[in-house]
Amino acid sequence: MTVLIGVDWGGTKIEALAMRPDGTELVRIRKDTPAGDYEACVRMVADLALEAEARSGETGLIGIGIPGSVDPRTGIAKGCNSTWLLGRHVEQDVVAALGGREVRLENDADCLASSEAIDGAGAGHRVVFAVILGTGNGAGIAIDGRPHSGPNNSAGEWGHSPLPYPDLTEIPGTPCYCGKHGCQETWTSGTGFQNDYARHTGRRIKSPEIMALNRNGDRLAKLVFERYVDRLARGLSVVANTLDPDIFVLGGGMSNIDELYVDLPERIAHYTFSPVFYTPVVKAKHGDSSGVRGAAWLWKDRI
Ligand SMILES: [Zn+2]
Repeated sequence: MTVLIGVDWGGTKIEALAMRPDGTELVRIRKDTPAGDYEACVRMVADLALEAEARSGETGLIGIGIPGSVDPRTGIAKGCNSTWLLGRHVEQDVVAALGGREVRLENDADCLASSEAIDGAGAGHRVVFAVILGTGNGAGIAIDGRPHSGPNNSAGEWGHSPLPYPDLTEIPGTPCYCGKHGCQETWTSGTGFQNDYARHTGRRIKSPEIMALNRNGDRLAKLVFERYVDRLARGLSVVANTLDPDIFVLGGGMSNIDELYVDLPERIAHYTFSPVFYTPVVKAKHGDSSGVRGAAWLWKDRI
């Protein structure tokens, strides 16, 4: 029997999974990412994939989600917030570390989109737009359960487009690691939310603490959250105008804020060209596991 092996190569942890073709999880292993050390990361990705496979007792097909994407012509990594991957031949190096085994490699947000489309919150929906609201804002598109990448592997790089409909206080915006200013993720990542609160209060606290204040009636926390929702709605309204996906699925730490699912749809409808906005906006079903499950599902067409 064949098992599906997924590896989620994240900025803080690397996780491997062996999964049966029906989605049943057999083995799961997780280690801290040797951040900043590219060679050690490659070695760990390969070792964890092989260990998951060995412990499953079966032969596996290996899929890997990376925090970035590769140039489809050269195979060189680009757009990575784990900047030590930039300029590296990631796929080639992982294949070499695996002794020449064939791998499939996709952006981590595309893995989230696939995972949620296949057996998660987006199941039954043909075009799924999935957003990671974490330390950054990754996004991925799955069509019929498969990641859609495009000729530049740039589909879903929504987080590094400028915040739409900016007011004067939002121009030019803060610098982003990608070299531009005022990217969507500088406003609507978890970090962006915390920064916005700190800008107005001088207090740097975590998102759940800001939300606790908001729920207790703190006016500033409420205003900061309302603006967060508004900025996220502006960004997603452009996606609705362009792609009109069948569903929006939210993952990452900020997706745990229940108020988002009440407030967002109305705000998105305020900004879309059409006043009609029927699209569901839902929380990812598999949570943190979607990345590693989506990586394993990269071989779904072979099983
Ligand atoms: Zn950027």
